[in-house]
Amino acid sequence: MKFFQKTLPLFVAGIIILSSCGGDATKELPRIAIAGIAIESCTFSPSVTEEEAFHPKYGTEVFTSYGFLSQDSALYKQALWFPAVVARSLPDGIVSRAAYESIVSKTVDSLKKNGPFDGIYLDIHGAMTVQGMDDAEADYVQRIRDAVGPNTLISASMDLHGNVSPRLAELLDLVTAYRMAPHEDALETKRRAVTNLLARLESGKGRPAFKAYIPIPILLPGEKTSTRLEPAKSVYAAVKPAAAQPGIVDASIWIGYAWADEPRNHAVVMVTGDDQEKVTSTAQKLAKSFWDARKGFSFVAPAGSLDECLAKALASDKHPFFISDCGDNPTAGATGDVTFALKQLLARPEFRNAGGPSLIYASIPGPELVKQALAVGVGGKVDEYVGARIDSRFAGPVKLTGIVESIYKGDKQAEVEVVVRVGSMHVIVSQKRKAYRTEPDFTNLGLKPRDATIVIVKLGYIDPDLYNMKADWMLALTPGAADQDILHLPYKRIQHPMFPFDSNMADPDLKPRMIPAANSKARSQTTPAAKQ
Ligand SMILES: [Zn+2]
Repeated sequence: MKFFQKTLPLFVAGIIILSSCGGDATKELPRIAIAGIAIESCTFSPSVTEEEAFHPKYGTEVFTSYGFLSQDSALYKQALWFPAVVARSLPDGIVSRAAYESIVSKTVDSLKKNGPFDGIYLDIHGAMTVQGMDDAEADYVQRIRDAVGPNTLISASMDLHGNVSPRLAELLDLVTAYRMAPHEDALETKRRAVTNLLARLESGKGRPAFKAYIPIPILLPGEKTSTRLEPAKSVYAAVKPAAAQPGIVDASIWIGYAWADEPRNHAVVMVTGDDQEKVTSTAQKLAKSFWDARKGFSFVAPAGSLDECLAKALASDKHPFFISDCGDNPTAGATGDVTFALKQLLARPEFRNAGGPSLIYASIPGPELVKQALAVGVGGKVDEYVGARIDSRFAGPVKLTGIVESIYKGDKQAEVEVVVRVGSMHVIVSQKRKAYRTEPDFTNLGLKPRDATIVIVKLGYIDPDLYNMKADWMLALTPGAADQDILHLPYKRIQHPMFPFDSNMADPDLKPRMIPAANSKARSQTTPAAKQ
């Protein structure tokens, strides 16, 4: 009974016969629930996100997202797992209150049914905005806390583009964030959140004694803070060794999310551990290095207008030449249906004839065109409007007239994808919006991006598959809900002074704030922030 007496004296220990691992050892295992909700909500987008966009997973289906927790894995055998609901959407607009309440109530019902728990692993992003609510993740964790009680250890993994308010920091016991952008370490981070939780439960140490929190008044887009390049590379390289020090449980830096307008949107450093001096000095060091580097952040690739990018790409001998249609990047929360770039491409003489430079355009939603393509089949002619159903602020729907080159059914996001040949362009039209981030996203449709002269993607920084494929790459600073020109976005509620908005601001106070434990009598009783 030692384990439970140390960690959760009120809970009755279960004696579990380990039949699944082939032995007959009798061992006490902690009871751990899994839940999560993840989205980047762009509050500059006219789109509203509903529950179906989250593709919620329930029960054992949840494990399919976590390879490290497969039934034959060592981690799986270290606990009794109770997956509740894990909901993950592509970045999009604000989440409808009904969608949020539905997901939260299903989560809470499952937790109440299967509790009590020693621990909970939470898979959250940190940049969700819900209608009529500020700091949605804090509300989510509060509702979970209310369901499971103050003693359950909660360990969360987050995206480094998420935001951490003091209230969220207080509600979580363990928290860790990605250390790479692009997020090549996403699974590793989730695994770390789980292993830290197990380690604290198994050792009986429970929640870390100290949580240091430092808000940093910087708000920058991901396209200026990729860890592939300096200065983010060095700032983030310091995180792993910082977290490995004795007396430290974990250390994280959040860039924060630039396309939402809440007071919590800014960078944050958090360090947790049992050695107060180490925890505070480490947090301070990480925060200072980030602040000192602020003026060095610049775009991850050469940037310009779409015309400038096309001129460079057409004159270049490096192919495929990738161009990111940045303003309408759905992976940053834009709708993906802005027709600004496509309209300009259709007007360009270079791509009008089949013998022109080959260009792949990924992509534009067009359910009517998809319907027509399904009716006429491959080789048939389509003539239909696409795009601008949700975001028509920068250009209206565009008529696409061309030949159906391929039809692909079954993608989880897009559902049906059609490639339409227009002149020398291959335009991907999807039933629903999708971000094209990997080579198979193209080759599944019969496209050969490596052989194309130009590939235009609705992304900001490009994912590893495409990054390795590109011969050259530029960012087209196009309009859309994820506009890279954040200085001109209509923020009303972010805190000031904030870099780069108040570029000559004085150095901020980077002294760590010690955050009370989730079960502390000293808890701040922070009430939810004022509603919008
Ligand atoms: Zn991210």
